[in-house]
Formats: sequence, C-alpha cells, structure tokens
Amino acid sequence: MTLDRLGRRLGSLRLSVTDRCNMRCGYCMPNEDYVWLPRPALLTYEELDRLAGIFAGLGASKIRITGGEPLLRHDLPHLVGMLARRSSIRDIALTTNGILLERMAVPLRAAGLHRVTVSLDTLRPERLQRFAKSGQHAQILAGIDAAIDSGFATVKLNAVVIRGYNEDEIGSLLAFGKARGIEVRFIEFMDVGGATTWTPDQVVSRAEMLATIERDWGPAEPLPARGEAPAERFRLGDGTGFGIIASTTAPFCGACDRSRITADGTWFTCLYSDGGLDLREPIRAGATDRELAEAIATHWGRRVDRGAEERLAVAGRGVLHSIERLRDDPRREMHTRGG
Ligand code: SAM
Ligand code: SF4
Ligand code: SF4
Repeated sequence: MTLDRLGRRLGSLRLSVTDRCNMRCGYCMPNEDYVWLPRPALLTYEELDRLAGIFAGLGASKIRITGGEPLLRHDLPHLVGMLARRSSIRDIALTTNGILLERMAVPLRAAGLHRVTVSLDTLRPERLQRFAKSGQHAQILAGIDAAIDSGFATVKLNAVVIRGYNEDEIGSLLAFGKARGIEVRFIEFMDVGGATTWTPDQVVSRAEMLATIERDWGPAEPLPARGEAPAERFRLGDGTGFGIIASTTAPFCGACDRSRITADGTWFTCLYSDGGLDLREPIRAGATDRELAEAIATHWGRRVDRGAEERLAVAGRGVLHSIERLRDDPRREMHTRGG
C-alpha cells in the first residue's frame, strides 16, 4: 500500500481528459475565453491508459474521468475500453455536464464504464442560461435519462448549491432524483480554481442544506461512515437517499485518497495544491513503468496536503486565485485540473 505522510493511501485517481468545456458555469469558468492547453501537450489515450495502469499497481484502482467536459474528447469510449481491460482497475466512473450524454451513454456502458455522475444544479432552463451560459437544459435531462436506461451500476447527480442562484431548488432537485431513482449529492460552493466570484455569503452550508431538507422532508438519518468518499450520505423517512459534500465548511482531508492528472499530464495531490509532478515529460522521454512508479510513490510518500482544511482556518477568507494568477498557470483552474 502506498501511504502519504499522514497515513492516507493512494486510492482514487481523476483523469482530466480535456480542459475545454461547452458550458461556462459561474463557479468554474466564469469567463468566455481561457488560456487553453496546447493540443500536442494533451496526453494521448495510450499515455493515459499506461499511467492508469501504473497508478493501479500502486493501489489507485478507482478511476474517475473528468475535465473540462470529458465528452468533448473524441471517442471517449475508446479510452474507457482500454481502462476496462485492466483487471487492476476495479471502478471506472465519469463526471459530465450531460450535454453530450444522450448519444454517448450506450457506447460508454458497452465499453465498460461502471458509473456516471451528471452535474445538474438547476431544473430551470433560464437559470442555466444565465448562470452557465448554456441553452442545453433539455439535452442534459435527455442525457440523464439515457444514462439511467443504459445499465450503469449507479447514476448520480451533482448539484453545487449557491445562494442567489439555486438555493431554493434543493427540494425540487431531491424530488427529481427520487422520481428517477437516482441519488443527488449537494455540494458546497468551493473557492477553488476559477471560482473568482466566490464570497463566503454565497456558500450554502451543509447545516443549512440539512435544515432545508428536514423542514420539508422530515428527519434525515445519517448513513454509516463514508470512509474515503467525499459525500456524507443520509436517508429520509420515505427511503430517499442523498449526499452532501461539505468541502467548504466541514472538509474531509483526513481521509482523502484522491489525486488528479491534468489533461497535459501534471499530477496534483490536492485540489488546492499549487505545484504538481510533471509525468508527461518523463513518459515522452522514455521512462520505464518502474521508473514512473518509483517517482509517483516517492511523491505520494511526501504528501502532506490538507488544502480545504487549511482554507477553513484562513481569517477573512476570499477567493483563492485572482484572474491574473489563473492566466499565469491554467493548471490552477478546476476545469484543467479536473473536478
Ligand atoms: N464538466 C464536468 C461536469 O461539470 O460535471 C466535469 C468537470 S467539473 C470541474 C466537476 C465537478 O466540479 C462538477 O460537478 C462541478 O459542479 C464541480 N465544481 C466546479 N467548480 C466548483 C466549485 N467552485 N465549487 C464546487 N464544485 C465545483
Ligand atoms: Fe464546464 Fe464542468 Fe466547469 Fe461547468 S463545472 S464549466 S460543465 S467543467
Ligand atoms: Fe483532498 Fe485536498 Fe480536497 Fe483535502 S482539499 S479533500 S486533501 S483534494
């Protein structure tokens, strides 16, 4: 087992396959244009698959494909198929905004994808238009339904809750999930990456979300400990389950087994860390699997990251990065690093 300095194992790996996106969510990509990663710098599917195999050999047997919007990357089922052929990888999941999911759900499932999470913050198309500059609400709903019909082990919804945007939709999102038999996970607004408009008063806390749900739905019973998973899970009296990811007010760094590889091959051991380990350069310079594994294990062995917990201790907390700092290094962006 590969452990970091705080005794946390290397457990799950997020692969960002593109930094591009067909939405502009206000908490992630509030601007129209960005400094994009140059195309030749993007890891190929062969490089991603090779790295995934090396990480799995070190214990990271859970892979989540993300981005940017991962379905913008050409022929994603091909990558899924490569990963699925590795017996050392036992769980392959995808996080997507759902716009392109309707026609991709069946090929992704056929290629071996196990689980899908679709991000959906609002049931009101006009809000999506205003907040995320997208007129594709109906396509997202069609994508969710296609995923449900395609036989994945789980389909979940992620909803970031922000005061002034969608805090009045917690109940309707729960009802939407219940009607489709899928679990909704409510996420606190985080000050990461491109969240350059973040202010503490826009954060709807875990406590506030729970109070809202219990007011309308009755008591929410906490389900047994979540282990290394970011979501705390609850069950309502009618059996409806939901999750809360309280990264801002109740962070869970103590059990964090997650790390992320940017689409151009830099490995970050925390969502908040400023520097990462470049894996693309050694891969393209001919490093062997063993050399790469040693470099990865050594880097993880030095890991002391507790980004969200450290942010919690900051008095007068404001945005993490200015727009200028993000332009200086686009790998600071959530959409580059992979949410
Ligand atoms: N484009 C895909 C999507 O939206 O599902 C995958 C990448 S996105 C960066 C992954 C997740 O990060 C999404 O569920 C999104 O809501 C979440 N996210 C992005 N910025 C966030 C922020 N500032 N606070 C909380 N969650 C955020
Ligand atoms: Fe795109 Fe996902 Fe970021 Fe929204 S959260 S802008 S869909 S990468
Ligand atoms: Fe893990 Fe960093 Fe997030 Fe904490 S802030 S849970 S260490 S990725």
